[in-house]
Amino acid sequence: MSRQISSILAIAAVCVTLAPAPAFAQAPKKEPVDCTQVKCIALTFDDGPGKYAGTLLDTLKKYDAKATFFLEGQYAKSRPTYVKRMVTEGHELGNHSYSHPDFTKSDAGKIKSEIQKTQDAVKKAAGVEPKLLRPPYGLADLQVSDIAAEFDMPIILWTAGSQDWSSKNVEAIQKQTLAVAEPNGIILMHDWVKQTVDGMPALIKTLKNKGYHLVTVSDVIKSEKLEPGDVFPLPEGWAQ
Ligand SMILES: [Zn+2]
Repeated sequence: MSRQISSILAIAAVCVTLAPAPAFAQAPKKEPVDCTQVKCIALTFDDGPGKYAGTLLDTLKKYDAKATFFLEGQYAKSRPTYVKRMVTEGHELGNHSYSHPDFTKSDAGKIKSEIQKTQDAVKKAAGVEPKLLRPPYGLADLQVSDIAAEFDMPIILWTAGSQDWSSKNVEAIQKQTLAVAEPNGIILMHDWVKQTVDGMPALIKTLKNKGYHLVTVSDVIKSEKLEPGDVFPLPEGWAQ
């Protein structure tokens, strides 16, 4: 190596040593949350993307909270921008049928087409397909379970509801949600209920103060090792 080149390299080495580490090296590394070790809760929003999904996404982003959206295909089709944002901002998507029929009163052809059309609409909007199924009204039977298995998806219900669709009252929604919140809980909410979205900043702050990490459904069910077609949590009287 020529003397000139080696002294240039020596200077370069000094510069590298003295230069501050690039900012990305100092940013805290984001470890995946382990819900067997810390307190987790999964807020889930059905029937959307609803009218207020944009405001909700802004709030979730501001508080670094993750959520799961069980989308209706018809709205994934009409509001694709929100679907794309949900994926980009780290939320999870589930399939909640295309037009919300009761699957337990539908024939197999209808159920399959409702699920497939929603997979297609979500894929078109955001480039990904949901991996979880929540049938409308949370109603499932063995036929629905078999079809979910064909689509390679577990059926995800909820551990408790916020009753937001019925109370439509910010204080009542918060009170109810906090009353039923529990580690690894899956809470049913709706992003078409304005009061749910209006009360979300305060609700997230309170949940965080109680030590909860707001995560996706897949985070809280990780240790359950669900198979396609499994129902979780199991409703009363469901033999599997
Ligand atoms: Zn629904």
